[in-house]
Amino acid sequence: TDIDWAAFAAALAPVETITEPVLIKKRSRDFFWYSPILNAELKRCFGDLVARPASADELAHVLSVAYAHNAPIVLRGGGTGNYGQSVPMDGGLIIDTTAMNKVLEIGEGWVRSEAGALMADINVALAASGQEMAMFPSTQDIATVGGFVAGGSAGIGSIANGALRDPGNIISLGVMTVEDRPQNRRFDGADALHIHHAWGLNGVITDVTLRTVPRHDWVGCIATFDSYEGTYATGLAIAQSTDIARKLLTTVDARICAYCPKLEGHIRPDKHLLVSMIPTEDRDAFRTLIETHGGHVDLMMTDSEREGAGLPHVYDFSYNHTTLQVLKADRTATYQQVGCPIPPDPQAIKALRPKLGDDVWMHHEFARVGGDIVTFDLPIIWFSSAERLAEINAIYEANGFPVYDAHTWNVEGGGLKPDYTHLAWKKRMDPKGLLNAAKSRFWADVAHLDADEIEALGRA
Ligand code: FAD
Repeated sequence: TDIDWAAFAAALAPVETITEPVLIKKRSRDFFWYSPILNAELKRCFGDLVARPASADELAHVLSVAYAHNAPIVLRGGGTGNYGQSVPMDGGLIIDTTAMNKVLEIGEGWVRSEAGALMADINVALAASGQEMAMFPSTQDIATVGGFVAGGSAGIGSIANGALRDPGNIISLGVMTVEDRPQNRRFDGADALHIHHAWGLNGVITDVTLRTVPRHDWVGCIATFDSYEGTYATGLAIAQSTDIARKLLTTVDARICAYCPKLEGHIRPDKHLLVSMIPTEDRDAFRTLIETHGGHVDLMMTDSEREGAGLPHVYDFSYNHTTLQVLKADRTATYQQVGCPIPPDPQAIKALRPKLGDDVWMHHEFARVGGDIVTFDLPIIWFSSAERLAEINAIYEANGFPVYDAHTWNVEGGGLKPDYTHLAWKKRMDPKGLLNAAKSRFWADVAHLDADEIEALGRA
């Protein structure tokens, strides 16, 4: 860009800015390096300046300066996304939201926070009212609630309470436009879903109201099994059980456990894992169900027992933290995101396993989406080439397991934004197209149209 960044930074005063190149480079990255394909494409993309507004008024000032300079803008919370969502592919301004971090109001069944609030802090604030977030990602210690709504999809709690996109989970969003004088808009219910998972390209989220649920005392459990399909079948039985509440159900291939040294001595070696969180009062029912299914409860700990034993949370072995355990030891590993037949079918999993090579190690998450119990596979894949990855994808798909590609930097690539509606909203909220525009495969084609025309094109 031909912007005079020193003058730009001066115009942002009194908003905090970061101008040191090393720090700008750090804030230009997220966890895209989980993918060797994204790593090659994104590792040389850097922003020019970071602004760190501490209030909605400061944010509005930053946006109006960016608008005046036609500066590309990328929003950034914790920077824990996996697809380069917050990487500034066009350079320009990075807006770091982490100084807008207040929990604003807590009600019965909801919490409203500034976009940059960390989810772990929201959970702490909720505890006093006997509540907790309906779901949170395993990155809750560094990830922001705005980043979760704009870039995430589900998490710990989703087997009980659904995905973010399920009705009632995102109650309301405060969203700012990018204009000469940025406007505050409020979107509720179905409207908020157009901003959800749009990677911050169609509005700047200022505050988030999410559903909360009554708090339980949770115990973290790991049970072990001889067969993977037996582990999966038991996960399904717990998901369907009416007398065991649960907020996490994860199955992990035995081969992955060798990359979890912290569990050594706490679990039986060379077994497949069922990782779960259940309320203390359901411990006996859980144990009985596991044993009926031929499994063994190796670990069952309250938070204080776990801390005493020096163990991490059990959710450190779930969602993309499972992948991280392997990546810590060996960066040639990667992963994929794969849907499974609904209803979940242990026999289908059993039949698929031998068709995948030794370079694919399964890991399933159980969730409730649209009212159905569903599972998705986040396998460890030992990466050899893009061709082999495509072959693995094709094996999954040929067997009825849809792939939601984790190796793409565009928002339409993962499957959640099937038409142009998010781009029509972009046109309304960001008429110059400054927000993270490079992340849409189609924006450049439709940017000259008005919002209604874009929407009509999407329907066609
Ligand atoms: P960022 O990475 O900073 O941003 C994500 C996207 O949101 C970017 O496109 C950014 O531009 C946009 N954005 C940020 N703030 C705003 C704003 N105020 N307004 C508009 N747009 C904004 N995800 C899950 O859904 N569930 C999981 O269980 C999960 N587990 C993970 C485990 C690991 C180990 C890792 C590395 C990632 C995981 N993720 C998971 C992905 C990610 O951690 C979460 O989605 C997280 O909530 C993102 O929050 P963040 O603050 O880091 O967002």
